[in-house]
Amino acid sequence: MVDAAEARRVAEESREKSWSGQSFMKDVFLGDFRMDLLERLTLEEPDRPEFWEFYRKIEAFLRDKVDSPAIDATGEYPPEVLNGLAELGAFGLKIPKKYGGLGLTHPEYVRVMQLLGSYDGNVTALLSAHQAIGVPQPIKLFGTEDQKQRFLPRCAKGAISAFALTELTAGSDPARLGTIAELSEDGEHYVLNGQKLWCTNVTLADLIVVMARNPKTKRINCFVVEMDWPGVKVEHRSRFMGLRALANGVVSFDNVKIPRENLIGNDGDGLKIALVTLNTGRLSLPAATSGSAKRFVEVVRKWSNARVQWGVPIGKHEAIAHKNAYILSSAFAMESITYVVGELADHEDADIRLEAAAAKEWNSVRNWSLADETLQIRGGRGYETERSLADRGEPGIGIERAMRDNRINLIFEGSSEIMHLFIAREAVDKHLHVAGDLIDPKASIGKRLAAIPKILAFYAWWYPTRWLRWSPWPSFSRYGKLAKHLRYASRASARLARNTFHGMVRFGPGLERRQGFLFRIVDIGLEIFALASTVRHAHKLQTEGAEEAVQAVALADFFARQQRRHIDTLFHELWSNDDARATRVGQDLLAGKHTWLERGITALPYSIDDMRPKPMDVVLREREEQERAPSEGEPAREELRIA
Ligand SMILES: Cc1cc2nc3c(=O)[nH]c(=O)nc-3n(C[C@H](O)[C@H](O)[C@H](O)COP(=O)(O)OP(=O)(O)OC[C@H]3O[C@@H](n4cnc5c(N)ncnc54)[C@H](O)[C@@H]3O)c2cc1C
Repeated sequence: MVDAAEARRVAEESREKSWSGQSFMKDVFLGDFRMDLLERLTLEEPDRPEFWEFYRKIEAFLRDKVDSPAIDATGEYPPEVLNGLAELGAFGLKIPKKYGGLGLTHPEYVRVMQLLGSYDGNVTALLSAHQAIGVPQPIKLFGTEDQKQRFLPRCAKGAISAFALTELTAGSDPARLGTIAELSEDGEHYVLNGQKLWCTNVTLADLIVVMARNPKTKRINCFVVEMDWPGVKVEHRSRFMGLRALANGVVSFDNVKIPRENLIGNDGDGLKIALVTLNTGRLSLPAATSGSAKRFVEVVRKWSNARVQWGVPIGKHEAIAHKNAYILSSAFAMESITYVVGELADHEDADIRLEAAAAKEWNSVRNWSLADETLQIRGGRGYETERSLADRGEPGIGIERAMRDNRINLIFEGSSEIMHLFIAREAVDKHLHVAGDLIDPKASIGKRLAAIPKILAFYAWWYPTRWLRWSPWPSFSRYGKLAKHLRYASRASARLARNTFHGMVRFGPGLERRQGFLFRIVDIGLEIFALASTVRHAHKLQTEGAEEAVQAVALADFFARQQRRHIDTLFHELWSNDDARATRVGQDLLAGKHTWLERGITALPYSIDDMRPKPMDVVLREREEQERAPSEGEPAREELRIA
């Protein structure tokens, strides 16, 4: 049984504890608005001709060979699409050239993901799961030279890979991991037993990364497992609301022998490897959703002009104009965030775990909202399938499909709630470092007293300086009309730090349970990051005299104004909210005090009283027994046959 304390212990143990480089967001949470960390980015377009040659090829391939409505309708990737992608080298985007890959830089990689995200969710998920979290990523980060030689060239050529962490009872909480890998007596191999759920690409994969617990040390390990080894079996193909072709399923392991050379990193490092893999792998989703948002811009521009109702194009009605402004400015912000994290990822002195999480969270949430608004602007056509539209002779614009395909982005690779918790933990890291002993309920009185001098030494300087933001010269004046937004962001960052500190003082050790408070703190940090990235991007276009500079600055100005209003609301709601009442109502629901509201609905044809997940072997056994057992009054199968 894993209790809350144990779950927290495991999460804490697998955190990257030290900061290996600079982080814009970490400083924002501490009240230091380090615009200089974004200013050193060039945000230039990639300039390698070799890259653009590949880019044009994959763009043409998508347009000419990938029939997205057919992939969605059949729920399968056609072999010619898989082979074509392999021939292009698309399975080796981030694999270094010396191992047979294309060796794209991160700014190049995010542009490819943007392109894919603008066109086909299924293909994006296939390629992203393979190289952002599948075998190439952990091997690149933690593998030995021998492992790199063995696995990377295969993956680059098109051997599809997958990442298997989730289990029936271990979703967001890895402490519940039940798959085990026991080291053999001679220490030569591990024996793997268990089952993994929702493993993307597994039905097509040649090799997968599996996280399993060593029962002796109780620690988690990370292995490369070949799908054709005895004992590995795909038990079930999962099907979803969107991403209908996703090669996703349940995979089981029955006494699978894993040679020791397939252990990634050291024994016990598995969870950390999985989490670091996810940290850096998270760049695919912000980029893909940015591509999706750019497509929404194209659709609403053309449709809002073309569709005339009540005497004018619908885009002239103020309500639709406002939606369009929101979609357009958001798409610019999403692109800015994508380019910022893409370039940061290649800076060796940058630690991007917070920026990558922020980009994943902000872009996926905003993209979902844009899908909804675009569907609304398309009216009934937004709800109609692309095939039906085309059959009626209209352009088969797949907003309905985009909506289905995009929803999962808020759940996989770290759900929105888990992203908030992850960012919140890092946001208070410095405070825990300094004052952790004082607010630790388990710390002895002696330990608490001993912590006081260190706390006083830090906060006596830190706290007052979070109030003093005055300077005789207006800062950021080189940003022209955008300068005031950066001045606001700088003040907001200091205010955010003060409020985080006030929260620690007010709630003490209970702060970690105050998700309403913490999530707003995180949201303010995310909004400041979005604002700063967008202003930086617009300013870059302005300083280089880009054709679109005037429009980009106007968009950034509009976006920043909206952000500031939103940030002000979040600050207000930090201390003036209905959190306590909402928690009580939520707990009353759990306690069954409101079952009266469930009166007046039909009974379901199946019971949902027992929601415990069942392993596939139990399901299959039960199904078999059901088929064998005659129901009351019905002759048994045997009797029927005789008759
Ligand atoms: C299409 C698809 C593809 C996937 N691909 C992969 C893959 O390739 N590899 C892989 O390993 N996994 C994969 N997953 C699993 C995915 O990563 C998990 O669904 C995700 O981690 C959430 O786990 P869960 O669904 O079990 O939700 P749960 O953990 O059961 O959570 C349910 C809800 O509670 C919230 N919640 C949980 N804990 C907290 C908390 N402490 N505080 C506040 N809220 C909380 C969650 O955010 C969520 O909203 C995939 C899932 C899907 C649907």
